[in-house]
Amino acid sequence: MTANTTDKTLETASEKTPVTLLGLGAMGTALARAWLAAGHPLTVWNRTPGRAAGVAAEGAKVAGSAAEAVAASTLVVVCLLDDSSVGEALADTDLAGKDLVNLTTTDPAQARARAEWARERGARYLDGGIMAVPPMIGVPEAGGYVFYSGAGELFEQHRETLAVPAGTTYVGEDAGHAALHDVALLSAMYGMFAGATHAFALIRKENIDPVAFAPLLGDWIKAMAGPSVTQTARQLATGEYGKDVVSSLAMQVAGTPTFLATAEQQGVSPELIGPYFALMRRCLTESSGEEDLTGVVDLLLR
Ligand code: NDP
Repeated sequence: MTANTTDKTLETASEKTPVTLLGLGAMGTALARAWLAAGHPLTVWNRTPGRAAGVAAEGAKVAGSAAEAVAASTLVVVCLLDDSSVGEALADTDLAGKDLVNLTTTDPAQARARAEWARERGARYLDGGIMAVPPMIGVPEAGGYVFYSGAGELFEQHRETLAVPAGTTYVGEDAGHAALHDVALLSAMYGMFAGATHAFALIRKENIDPVAFAPLLGDWIKAMAGPSVTQTARQLATGEYGKDVVSSLAMQVAGTPTFLATAEQQGVSPELIGPYFALMRRCLTESSGEEDLTGVVDLLLR
């Protein structure tokens, strides 16, 4: 390395925002590596100190306590197991004047309470919901991103630094909204898994190769999902549940006995798909039948 390159490397490193990261589990370690690779000065702390050895070898400064780690940088990121571990880890730290970014998975009420807790301690607060698994962190082409909500000015100020590990999607000042978006998307994912599980069960006892069946199923889910969520969203936004209906609720409810009979014939329990059909039938009794499935959304509201 020439003297010139060394100077440049030092210069770039000193321009990057210093980051403190609490938590070196699977996700925290991936975040640490991404910031180190991008040249950010990084201070880390982990409850079990041995887990810091890997990132220390890559250039992270290891703090002896959470308080020491928090004192090292204005931008403090936490990625711990759950909300109570965040409370425990930060209990004896001085958060006054800090920008606290909490990437720990929590529910919306916990995120709002944690935002208030941080405000009382003099910190600005941003909550995050990570839509990625560790191998996607620091790999932009993998498409992972993080929902952020809370202090908008904190997000704007640290936008570039926060964009290093994964994409960023800011969803507003309400600190609970990142967690809510995260859980809403993952809930839809589980609904999709439930549908795919039922489909695989239907073919399970037949001479049908699940590997050949998989692309048919995957392509069908993709083809249906995009247009259907767009249509539902438009109808919810306008209140016009009968507009642009392609497959009426009456027609779809009329088809449910076929699905239930097929499950019976294949020896498959209807316990995944049955509750959704029950809601469709209830919706039909309360509507003209000319609408499609959007009314089921409102039936779920308590
Ligand atoms: P891990 O189980 O790998 O790590 C948990 C981390 O929390 C460790 O650093 C652990 O420290 C620390 N911790 C647990 N309890 C305490 C406590 N009481 N005080 C201080 N530290 C504590 O989890 P991940 O890193 O995978 O996940 C971290 C967060 O990221 C979670 O909220 C998770 O939901 C979220 N996330 C994870 C994804 C994933 O695929 N891994 C995907 C999306 C979000 P120690 O080493 O001492 O045990």
